[in-house]
Amino acid sequence: MRITAIRVQRLALPLDPPFRAAWDPSPRRSFEATLVRVETDAGLVGVGSGDTMAGFDDFVQLFVGRDPRAIAGHSRTLETISFHAGRYWPLEAALWDLLGQASGVPVATLLGGAATALPVYASWGSLRSAAQRAEDAGALVREGFRGVKVRIARDRIDEGVAVVEAVRSAVGDRLEIMVDLNQWWRMPGDIERGLGPAAARRVVERLRDYDVLWVEEPLAGEDRDGMRMLREQAGVRIAGGEMARTFEELRLALDADALDVYQPDVVLALGISGARTLAELALRRNRWFTPHTWTNGIGLLANLHVCAGVGGGPMLEFPYDPPGWTPERRDFMLAEPLTTGPDGMLAVPDAPGLGVRLDEDAMAFYARAGSGDAAPV
Ligand SMILES: [Mg+2]
Repeated sequence: MRITAIRVQRLALPLDPPFRAAWDPSPRRSFEATLVRVETDAGLVGVGSGDTMAGFDDFVQLFVGRDPRAIAGHSRTLETISFHAGRYWPLEAALWDLLGQASGVPVATLLGGAATALPVYASWGSLRSAAQRAEDAGALVREGFRGVKVRIARDRIDEGVAVVEAVRSAVGDRLEIMVDLNQWWRMPGDIERGLGPAAARRVVERLRDYDVLWVEEPLAGEDRDGMRMLREQAGVRIAGGEMARTFEELRLALDADALDVYQPDVVLALGISGARTLAELALRRNRWFTPHTWTNGIGLLANLHVCAGVGGGPMLEFPYDPPGWTPERRDFMLAEPLTTGPDGMLAVPDAPGLGVRLDEDAMAFYARAGSGDAAPV
C-alpha cells in the first residue's frame, strides 16, 4: 500500500455565544479544526485531526509514495520536522487509522487492547461562579460522570479554590475532582509571569483539603524539580505534559520523577507511537498515563484508543462544559458526537482503525474559505 495524497482541510465553526476558555485571554468566537486525510492506492483513507498542520505543504513529499504502515519511520520523520516547523501529529494518527483499517481491528487493539471502554471525567474549560459550579457538578453526577476537572486561573486563585470547595460540598465523594492550573505552556503572546514554587505549593495545599485526585500543571514545564518537590511535600498527585514538545521532555520528567500523571495528547505531542512508549514506561513505574484530549472528537478518539490500548487511566478526559462546550460543538465534524453511557464510560469504537465517522455535509458547510483544498501531491 502506498500513500497517494495527503489532504489538509481547515474548518471553522462559528461560536455564538463565544466560548471563554480559562487558559486563553481572548474569547473564542470560532472553533477551528484541521482535518488530515491520507489517501492510498488501496482505496483506504486514514483520518486525523488535532494540531493546525500550518506549513505542512512543505513536507508532504516526505510521505507521498511511501507505505503508510511503516509508522516507525514516519514518526521519526515527524520528529525531525517538528524541530524545524510544526507538530504534525494528526498525520501520524491518520497513519495509525490506516494501519487499523488495513488490519481489520481498532487501533486500541494494535496497541495492546487492554480495555474496550474507559470511564471519563468531564473536563470543564470555562470559569463560572462557585454556586453555578455546584449546580453543574450535581448535573454531572446525574449524567453518570465519575469525575470533573476544574480550571483555576492564576490571577483568580481564591475564586478557584471556592469553586472546588462548592463542588466538593455539593457532590461529596460521588465525583473525583481534578484541578488544572495550566502553567506548563502559554498561549502565544501570554507573557505574564506564572506562579512560582512557593505560591504553587500554597495552592496545592489548600486544594488538598478537598481531596483532589490531582493538580495539573501547577508550574512551568521546565521546572521538573519544582514539581517533584511539590508532589513530595504537599502529598497531592501532580499531573502534566499535555503539550510537551518532544519525547525527551517527558522522558526527563519521568527520570526526575516530576509527575504522578503523564498526559501527552497524541495529536499535539509525541504522536500515538511516542505516547505509547512513554505510557509503557510510566505504567511500569506505577505512575498514571491518561492523555489530554482537548481538541475535537477526532483527537478525543485518537487519545481514547491509546489510553484504552495501553491500559491507561484511571479516567480519560472528556471535554464537556455545557452550555459553552458541548459534544455538538466539540465534534461538529463527526456524523454523531461522542457521548458517554449512563455508567460514565466512553466505548472504544469497534470499527477498524480509529472509527472516525465524518459528517461530510457539515465539513463542506464549515470549510474555511480559501483553505479547503489539498496539499500538493
Ligand atoms: Mg490541562
